[in-house]
Amino acid sequence: MNKVHGGSNILVQLFGSPSATTKRVYYTALASLGLYILAPTINNIFQKLISGKPKDIPGGRLDRVTSGLENRANDCYANSSLQSLAASDTLAQYLQDFIESLEEESAESPIFPMHTALATLLKELREPVTVSRILSAKHVKQVARFLHSANLRSTQQEDAHEFTQQVLDSLQEEYSHWPGRDATPFPFSGRTGTQLVCLTCGRSSEMQEQPFTIYEAAAPQTYSAELSSILSQEQTEVIEGYKCLCCNVIRLLENERRLGPRTNEPTIGREALEYLREVRDTIDINSEIPAHFMEYIKQYSRGGCIPYSHSSQVHRRTVITDAPRILLIHLSRSMYNGGGSGSSVRNGCRITYELELGVEDAAQPWTYKLCALTKHTGTHYSGHYQAYRRKLDLVKVVGSEEVVNRSVPGYAKQPGSRHKRIRSVVQKPFWKISDSSVSEASAATVLGETKYVYMLYYEREGL
Ligand SMILES: [Zn+2]
Repeated sequence: MNKVHGGSNILVQLFGSPSATTKRVYYTALASLGLYILAPTINNIFQKLISGKPKDIPGGRLDRVTSGLENRANDCYANSSLQSLAASDTLAQYLQDFIESLEEESAESPIFPMHTALATLLKELREPVTVSRILSAKHVKQVARFLHSANLRSTQQEDAHEFTQQVLDSLQEEYSHWPGRDATPFPFSGRTGTQLVCLTCGRSSEMQEQPFTIYEAAAPQTYSAELSSILSQEQTEVIEGYKCLCCNVIRLLENERRLGPRTNEPTIGREALEYLREVRDTIDINSEIPAHFMEYIKQYSRGGCIPYSHSSQVHRRTVITDAPRILLIHLSRSMYNGGGSGSSVRNGCRITYELELGVEDAAQPWTYKLCALTKHTGTHYSGHYQAYRRKLDLVKVVGSEEVVNRSVPGYAKQPGSRHKRIRSVVQKPFWKISDSSVSEASAATVLGETKYVYMLYYEREGL
């Protein structure tokens, strides 16, 4: 199948079966949201380059503020999530590539409402301004709500993690129908691998891999913890009483070597020993071996050696095996408080994190840069979400007052031009955003949110 129609697949999920009627319903519903849904109607979603000074305040500083988002009805969960997403140059580049590829497609293109809505909003949020303006996240919220109507919760306070997951799920579903997906990876796609490691013989089980778009990490029930240790050692769980196949085979063969061959060894025993000697160095601690050989190991008892009577301690370790370009970490702070009906309280563990994070996956070590975080204050059930968003990469051209925005997708440096950093961007590299209110923040302020940090957005450097 060369051309996959994303719209009809979404329709199957929403309405059960694709038909002309359901397609009409879908289009009508999206049109009522005021969305541009057909690819050829999306024109110039991104400006190629924004540089120089704006016209509203001559000489006004471009890094002082950014656009805020209106809060009409407890919208802070969505506003802070979208502001955090707006921090990522990688995401901006991905959305631009995606939208541009649609412009080249025919009218028969699949429809991609979440990409379109998010690209439009993020493009506006990422425009340099000298005076803060107030935008609305209404369209993105409506698309998320529409695509996830089954999960809609209206009365409770909405959760920033849940909302972000809905946005990413919609993006990923649309991505799976995008003709350009072979050339561009989905920027949030990563994989974790879980493995059991035997502490007696040091051998391990085969790696079980799981895909993720948001890395889930539970805040430990301690006074404080470091993010890097939550990501590494603390993802380790100890399991007692494990019957390790490698340990059993090693003990059994060692005993045979010590005692020498039995004169009256039955055929099954000879076959089993031959097989075990052959696989000894290649089996995993939980490999499936032929049942009659496994039975031989379980029954084995010679000269006081009964290998199967021993158990080992194993570690279950979860590591990132495929590091995504944008590593989004959710620090779950929900903690059962022992009360009735599964009531939970907020875990106030002070989690320290750095501007740079090292992650080593199966391929290589990567360095990540913190581009945003979402914080939550208040109780587990109500409260307020705010975002810290890294400022645009604004620099001055040496020898002039011209400001260049290097965060623009597709930015390429002019040959021969030299840039210098802007002092206010260096001193206060983030914006603190609480709905429509925007202020500047130092790195120390951002790193000081240890008690309230909820979602962390790291962007991979290099590729
Ligand atoms: Zn072992």
